[in-house]
Formats: sequence, C-alpha cells, structure tokens
Amino acid sequence: MSEIIASDKKHVWHHLTQHSVFDSSDPMIIESGEGMRVTDINGKTFLDATSGGVWSVNVGYGRTEIADAVRDQLLKMCYFANSAGNVPAAEYAAALIDKMPGMSRVYFSNSGSEANEKAYKMVRQLAHINGNGEKYKIIYRDRDYHGTTIGALSSTGQAERREQYGPFVPGFSSFSHCCCYRCPFGKTYGECNIECAQDLERAILEEGPETVGSVVLEPITAGGGVIPPVPEYFPIIQEICKKYDVLLHIDEVVCGLGRTGTWFGYQNYDVKPDFVTMAKGVASGYAAISCTVTTEAVFEKFKAPASERMPYFRDISTFGGCTAGPTAGLKTLEILEREELLSNVKKMGTYLMEGLHHLKNRFPVIGDVRGKGLFAGIELVTDRESKTPAPESYAVQIAGACAKNGLLIGRTNRSFDLFNNTLCLSPALIATKGDIEEIVSIIERSFEATPLQN
Ligand code: PMP
Repeated sequence: MSEIIASDKKHVWHHLTQHSVFDSSDPMIIESGEGMRVTDINGKTFLDATSGGVWSVNVGYGRTEIADAVRDQLLKMCYFANSAGNVPAAEYAAALIDKMPGMSRVYFSNSGSEANEKAYKMVRQLAHINGNGEKYKIIYRDRDYHGTTIGALSSTGQAERREQYGPFVPGFSSFSHCCCYRCPFGKTYGECNIECAQDLERAILEEGPETVGSVVLEPITAGGGVIPPVPEYFPIIQEICKKYDVLLHIDEVVCGLGRTGTWFGYQNYDVKPDFVTMAKGVASGYAAISCTVTTEAVFEKFKAPASERMPYFRDISTFGGCTAGPTAGLKTLEILEREELLSNVKKMGTYLMEGLHHLKNRFPVIGDVRGKGLFAGIELVTDRESKTPAPESYAVQIAGACAKNGLLIGRTNRSFDLFNNTLCLSPALIATKGDIEEIVSIIERSFEATPLQN
C-alpha cells in the first residue's frame, strides 16, 4: 500500500492538480468499484456521486457483461485502423444513429477533445468544399468547455483553463453564457427577451456572417457551473444559425447517453444539430472512445464532386480503430435500454432536485440549485442578496467534509472567471431512491458541520 502511494507521489503527474499543495498529503487512490460505490487502497468505501470524478461511469462499476464482451472482442480482433471497417464499429454506429433522428454518420476517435477537433476540421474543410474558404470561424459560448487540445481550448470560455497556453488558434470567438442566476444582461427570466441566445446574432454579425461556419455549445454547460438553458433558448439559437447559414454543433461529451433523462441533452429542447460530439458516457468509462456524429447532408459534401483533389476528410485517429470502445458502447446502450435507465434518471433526477431544494431552504449559503436529470449544481454564496460567490476554499471544505462522510462529489472547473463555487452531482444513472437520500443526507450533514466562516 505505502509502496503504491510512494510510487504515485514520486512518478504520477495528476490531472488538474497543483502538486505543491497536493504533495503535502497522500493521494486518494481508488482500487475497486461496484455499482455506485468505489473503495480506495486503504479500504475506505465511498458513495460516488461523480460517476468516476468526471461524469463518465454512467452504468456503474463492476459490469461483468461489459468486461466479458470487451475481452471476447479483443481476443477475436483487437484493432485495425478505421480506414478499414470492424464489426463492433458498424454495429455501434447503427445502434447510436437509431437514437439520433436526423443524424447519419459516426466518426470514431478517443476523447471528447478529439471529437470536437474532428468537427472543427469538418467545418473548416466544408467551407472550402462549398467554395468559400473564409467561412471557417467557430463561435463558442462563455463558461462552456470543449476540451484540452489547443483547438478545443481555443473554443473554451473559461479563463483559467486557457491562461498561459496561448496563443490560440485564430477563428474562434465567443458569445454570452446563459446562466439566469448570474444573467450577463442583468435581466430576470420571464421579463427578458432571452438576450443570452440573441447574443449569438451579435457575435455572428461582428465576425461577418460570411466568415462564420459553426457555433459550438454544450446542451447544459457542465464544468462551467451546471447551467441548463431555458426552454426558449435553443429554438432561438437554431433560428439564428439558419438565418446566417451557420452549422450547429452540440457538445454532448457530458450529457450524451442518458445523463439528463433523454439519450442526448439536446433532445430536451426543440433543436436539430448538424454535429453532435460525445465521449464520456459512450462506453461508460470501460473503454476510451468518442464519436463525432453528423448528418447525411454534411457527409455527402465530402463525397462530391469527384476530381483529382477529391475533398475527402483527410483525417485519422489511430485508436479510433480499437474495437474495445464500440463493444463497450454497445453493451452500455443495451444496459441503458434493458434497465430502463432513462426513465430512472427522470424519476431520480426529480427526487434529487427536491432534496437539493430542501437543502437550499435550510442553508442560506446555497444561492442556487439547478440541473436536469441526474446532473445537478449547487452554487454557494456568502450572501443571497448580493450573490457574492463563496470562496473556492469553502467549496473545497464541503467536498472534503462529504468525502470524510463517505460521499464523493464534484466541483466546477477551477477558473478565475467562474468563482469556483459550484458543487456538482452526477451519480451513475442506476442510482436508487436510497442512494439519492444518502447523497442528500450526507451533503446536509456536511453543511451542518462546516459553516461558512466570514
Ligand atoms: N467537452 C465537454 C463538455 C467536457 O466536459 C469535456 C471533458 N470534461 C470535453 C469536451 C473534453 O473531453 P476529454 O477530456 O475526453 O478530451
């Protein structure tokens, strides 16, 4: 045990971690998992309300049938470059498209960032295919996150994530976020014109519509604070996209495959995307796989006209040819359907939100609770009237108190501009009423034991 900790401390460079702080204590090393729970190498078991830290293990830990299917497939045929075909990829693509009316083609890669990069490259190349290479710009939204590679980071609206990694890729610009709790236009929902969505038009006009190829959005901003848009939001976005011939790319890396109670987050709203990207929930953390999904109309453009410089998509992802991903993806889909997990998410999501509203009524330090399905955020403030954000250290303390009490919860991405004051809950989609009660009750105890010191 101590050897593992020593090796970790000596050689592992942890993600998103300031090691000068981290090194003063022992890392939490998770050794095993079963259902909703994980156990660390010291034998302490936690109820995991994060689905593996970052919204991934949607069908829970220890699924023998996924492991068995992947094992069998790896022995039969582990890998061949996806310029050729493989059986699970074909089967998975068909099963996935079945859940996405209007979509048609699946391009496989390994991570959410990569899936987004593929879509950006498709948009840029499409501009040339359509005879206007200038229509390459991509508009993203403040507070949204689209990944860690330089292109994906260039389209990310979180200052701290970007700091010191510039210069960024040209051709990306942003428009307003849509958080009603901190409306960027100082408005109140019900008395506003959904200015946050209208702001896309401003951004397109400022860039010049003939230069804008696509807009990329999370259906519900995840790491930026768990922000579901109001119902009017996406239809307005869609209309503006149509008006200026701008393609709509929805980043479903977090919401994809059931998290919000529909197959995809965008299916909660009245909207038809041109690109949908997904990763985390696809194989539920049992394999690395991501998908860039698009329409037949987009795909067709890459086929014609045939010429000496045929405009095929000159892109590859080596491990987009691994068979473990689509095999685990197929089993994940099968489990989601067989166990009727979408309807479970809807039921348990309502139950979770009731619990969080109960907490909000009890603790003035909770300024806002929001979310959809099994995806929720708790925004912490020092004062409800002024909405002054609680310091990041307080969110850390609450998360620490929860962990001490046997519950893992998440926090918003660290970012100077986002205050780092939102706790995130994203339990596996198999959560029961008992699990939700336990989550809410441990959070309640943790708030009781950890008052905000002014
Ligand atoms: N998009 C969104 C919405 C995400 O939350 C993330 C990861 N948190 C990504 C893209 C990037 O995914 P990955 O880390 O797999 O590259």
